[in-house]
Amino acid sequence: MKKILSLAPNCVAVKKSQEFILKKIQAIRGMNDLLPSDSVVWQFVEAAVADILQRYGYQEIRFPILESTELFKRSIGEVTDIVEKEMYTFDDRNGDSVTLRPEGTACCVRACEEHGLLYNQTQRLWYMGPMFRYERPQKGRYRQFHQIGVETFGMDGPDIDAEVLLLSARILRELGVASFVTLQINSLGDSASRAKYKDALVAYLEIHKDRLDADSQRRLTTNPLRILDSKEASTQALLDGAPVLLDYLDEASQAHFEQLKVLLDAGGVSYQVNPRLVRGLDYYGKTAFEWVTDKLGSQSTVCAGGRYDNLVEQLGGKPTPAVGFGIGLERLVLLLQAVDAIPKGLEQIADIYVVAVGNVQKEAFQLAENLRTDLPNLRVISHCGGGNFKNQLKRADKSTADIALILGEDEIAKQVVAVKFLREDQPQQIIPLTEIANFLKTCI
Ligand code: ATP
Ligand code: MG
Repeated sequence: MKKILSLAPNCVAVKKSQEFILKKIQAIRGMNDLLPSDSVVWQFVEAAVADILQRYGYQEIRFPILESTELFKRSIGEVTDIVEKEMYTFDDRNGDSVTLRPEGTACCVRACEEHGLLYNQTQRLWYMGPMFRYERPQKGRYRQFHQIGVETFGMDGPDIDAEVLLLSARILRELGVASFVTLQINSLGDSASRAKYKDALVAYLEIHKDRLDADSQRRLTTNPLRILDSKEASTQALLDGAPVLLDYLDEASQAHFEQLKVLLDAGGVSYQVNPRLVRGLDYYGKTAFEWVTDKLGSQSTVCAGGRYDNLVEQLGGKPTPAVGFGIGLERLVLLLQAVDAIPKGLEQIADIYVVAVGNVQKEAFQLAENLRTDLPNLRVISHCGGGNFKNQLKRADKSTADIALILGEDEIAKQVVAVKFLREDQPQQIIPLTEIANFLKTCI
């Protein structure tokens, strides 16, 4: 057995009727590898978003992937889908319950509180990274997925709500998907008006309980507002006659919502008011919003967020107003693919490929290194692994480079390099080694 294992390091030996068979280890269901052809697209999206965030004066924060389970129980809410059935929770070796983060907001608040970032100051923050939820994997829904999160703290007016919405609108616009998404907004009011609405909703739904789907019947006692979110047609039909959340808003929330709409109009961001929009996490109040698309089937929400003024206090800090959102990166990339918004040329990863034939390895390395120093924007691949001229040229062609620089013993003797254009119909040129950097500057 030892021998078998050493032969195949990525295989496990499985004992089956006295025989050992080898079973390949595969990725965990719902957790994806990102291969080079996709990672270039992700890098493009991540860089575009990071650039926009910087232009709005947002700063990056990074926090761990693993947190105390208590953090999520206390923030997201015990009777939410996430905490009830979606968390990756386990005891560490010390017997402490820890959880792979299912979202970033609670972590961000924890980190800010722990380091005093919320004391007497405002913050505009962002982060990017993996989140983990034990859901049924399907297109646009995975067990490890990635979010770009934006959180702001210390500002209670509708101006900052409008700002984060303008920011999210710009991200979608600059990535070329603006015409395929719609912004839906709603106000969830303050806790008192929400509680009043909850009672009215429950009273109405109790009368028609038999027409509710099973999930919604259960939520009637645990989390009735989430029924508004139900995907069941029969439940949605029933909700047509239900009391409307916006009719129950307290005055302050109403004024906040009205001013938000004024600012969105002024900023040129169109929206639909969706009175049934609620969020799946308990900590939201006042503004709630989602960017939805009809290009991704039932996983239609690309970006979601809202105001969560009570969360910091709920986690032991001073009352601190906050608003933010999360963009699902997988869904964003799927959307870009679906509407053909991925720029051409991302697959090109090299400009120059250095071919070295004969005993010139040392000089070829020197040439490549000098070019990387002199022309830092150039992407230079140096051929490794030997092979004859023809094979090396084949590699050069496959590398996506535009130009092959060919070095052989003859070239070294003459202190020149041959320049072969791989994508254009141009004759090969011979350029002195001392001139090659200048020459490349003119043709790339
Ligand atoms: P959904 O209603 O689709 O389950 P959610 O309300 O649970 O979404 P949030 O917690 O608000 O989602 O997360 C913000 C964004 O993260 C979502 O709008 C979506 O784009 C993305 N997202 C959430 N869960 C997943 C998942 N399991 N796989 C991929 N992306 C996800
Ligand atoms: Mg969900």
